[in-house]
Amino acid sequence: MTPLAQILHRRIAAEGPMTVAEYMALCLLHPRHGYYTTRDPLGAQGDFTTAPEISQMFGELIGLSLAQSWIDQGRPTPFVLAELGPGRGTLMADATRAMGAVPGMLDAATLCLVEASPALRARQSRSLQGLAPTWVDSVADLPEAPLFLIANEFFDALPVRQFIRAGEGWAERVVGLYEGALAFGLTEPAPQAALMPFLATPEGDLITTCAPAEGIVEDLGRRISSHGGAALVVDYGDWGAHGDTFQAVQSHTKVPPLAAPGQADLTAHVDFRALAAAAPCAHTALAPQGVFLETLGITRRAQRLADGLTGAARDAHVAAHRRLTHPGEMGSLFKVLGFVPEGAPVPPGLLPADRREG
Ligand code: SAH
Repeated sequence: MTPLAQILHRRIAAEGPMTVAEYMALCLLHPRHGYYTTRDPLGAQGDFTTAPEISQMFGELIGLSLAQSWIDQGRPTPFVLAELGPGRGTLMADATRAMGAVPGMLDAATLCLVEASPALRARQSRSLQGLAPTWVDSVADLPEAPLFLIANEFFDALPVRQFIRAGEGWAERVVGLYEGALAFGLTEPAPQAALMPFLATPEGDLITTCAPAEGIVEDLGRRISSHGGAALVVDYGDWGAHGDTFQAVQSHTKVPPLAAPGQADLTAHVDFRALAAAAPCAHTALAPQGVFLETLGITRRAQRLADGLTGAARDAHVAAHRRLTHPGEMGSLFKVLGFVPEGAPVPPGLLPADRREG
């Protein structure tokens, strides 16, 4: 048994079953044994890979989209350039290299990284040398200033709760012990005032909520609304949160979420409708990642980069372009949602929200 599994067993034996959110938070961010606290999980040798690790084009195009928003809003100076959960710092390195083409932009920027993992903070300080980043623990700690922000595969790592529709109420999915092993269970059904938006859920169906995600978007939306700025949130998920998407990945393979606490990445799909509803600023329409990147000109950028490559490097580059954009790969599973002040132009690559949608 892993040290974290022992801690979980003792705690459940003493206090009873815990919510999926408590389990997820302990597994990912326990100060000594948490998955992110103790390692750099990214890349081919790690457990999973992400869009910025697949190709430099991803960070470059996101950087240019934010740069156009900065120009559209009158080049506010100074401003905070921020990233939530920057991983290895690759996205920000590529984005800032692209922003370097915009006169005055990097000079006006204060780079702030929201990162919980000491291991990844160390990795980010190496990749972002020369940009003098500062680290904060949460969005609430960012300076009050115009805010241009990116979050890729951050919201999917925030702790979720899961509820099953049962009669007039909801049974919450919990993690307990069964015959000496961690096992899922259900609480007695009870009314849940916070689940009013899901009232029409059919009996027996499961929904997922993420209060921390809503709190974060509320805070960054308030900043964007009062100081100006833009946020791009990229993640896998959809408009709504039906069905069980809580999953664990280890060595690029799905494993049962209770099998290896602290040793596997745990995620759940992001409910973009809940994020949009929580933001006190305007949001864009939700775009599939492939459409977003194609609109920003990824194919032309890919051709330019391909001109300098031959053999295996060229093949890998072509495969990376496909992986980021093709609907059968990351192109439609991953989505992009933007946030801007009411009335401001939306970041390039995205369309204004259909008002009827919310
Ligand atoms: N954005 C990066 C990394 C994604 S992995 C990329 O695309 O490659 C998730 C990142 O979020 C990691 O950096 C992890 O340490 C960080 N993270 C997870 N939960 C967090 C929390 N509650 N607060 C701050 N950072 C968190």
